[in-house]
Amino acid sequence: AKKAGRDRAVSYEDSMFAAAVAEAEARSELERALDRNEFVVFYQPIVDLPSGRPIGVEALVRWQHPERGLLGPNEFIAHAERTGLIVPLGAGVLRVACQEMARWHREIPGADTMRVSVNLSARQFQEPNLLDTVRDVLTETGIAPETVVLEITESMLMEDVDATVVVLHRLRELGVRLAIDDFGTGYSSLSYLSRFPIDILKIDKAFVDGITANREDAALAEAVVGLGKALRLQTVAEGIEQPDQQALLTGLGCTYGQGYLFAKPVGADVITSMLHDMATA
Ligand code: C2E
Ligand code: CA
Ligand code: CA
Ligand code: CA
Repeated sequence: AKKAGRDRAVSYEDSMFAAAVAEAEARSELERALDRNEFVVFYQPIVDLPSGRPIGVEALVRWQHPERGLLGPNEFIAHAERTGLIVPLGAGVLRVACQEMARWHREIPGADTMRVSVNLSARQFQEPNLLDTVRDVLTETGIAPETVVLEITESMLMEDVDATVVVLHRLRELGVRLAIDDFGTGYSSLSYLSRFPIDILKIDKAFVDGITANREDAALAEAVVGLGKALRLQTVAEGIEQPDQQALLTGLGCTYGQGYLFAKPVGADVITSMLHDMATA
């Protein structure tokens, strides 16, 4: 061991203590941020793949940190999950996203079929309050439930299949649609897939990245789109960055797409302008 001079090595207890302190600090910082409304919802358009025309948006949370600037979810979602604060944070994102979409539906001609997708974390999904939260948000905002999509990752579905199927059916009864997020990365058994009452498969960026460069990736993407078709699901390809990828996925019959090629996640005001431009085009 490289102990310098007489400094003692950091003991296991010390490092456990340091980790606990860091965790408590993260928790109180997130609590403060929630109190001060520092979380902002960004939106990334989801487009009809052949035409590139937006059909909806995905809500993606950001943290407008007073000192560190605008932070992406990779910098805080894991902490929010571990501390349980993802539950109020996630409910807040759902509420704001539905409020803003309900307003776009009301105020912008032709925008009333736009969908809004919201990510649910595993923690939220396990909460008994989830159904009440979703029902309350639908009632409060008056949004048409069929324009709301809840995104659930593949790995969340596989944790307890029987319990999951029950929750998914209850959510569906509220009128919302359900999507499997990051599909292809979670090792789900294909035999379960038909048991879940879902509407949309989101094909992970990992499958999109290599499709124009190598045959194997293209074959995998084709298989996933084919699976979606066989199960009569809509398919959304994520992380499309190049026109070639759009063309290839369109050829495979993938219905929708999302990615920097079309638009990056942006603030609500940018979506407002985009929808106004579409209405007058
Ligand atoms: P996700 O749900 O898979 O969202 C897609 C992510 O891919 C977003 O990252 C988006 O900005 C990024 N992306 C979209 N198109 C492209 C592209 O063409 N190229 C590249 N390189 N990236 C692209 P973001 O916003 O950083 O979010 C990361 C993850 O954080 C999300 O992945 C989601 O798992 C999680 N997240 C975001 N908002 C929420 C939320 O409100 N609740 C929960 N539970 N998780 C959230
Ligand atoms: Ca998502
Ligand atoms: Ca995804
Ligand atoms: Ca992802």
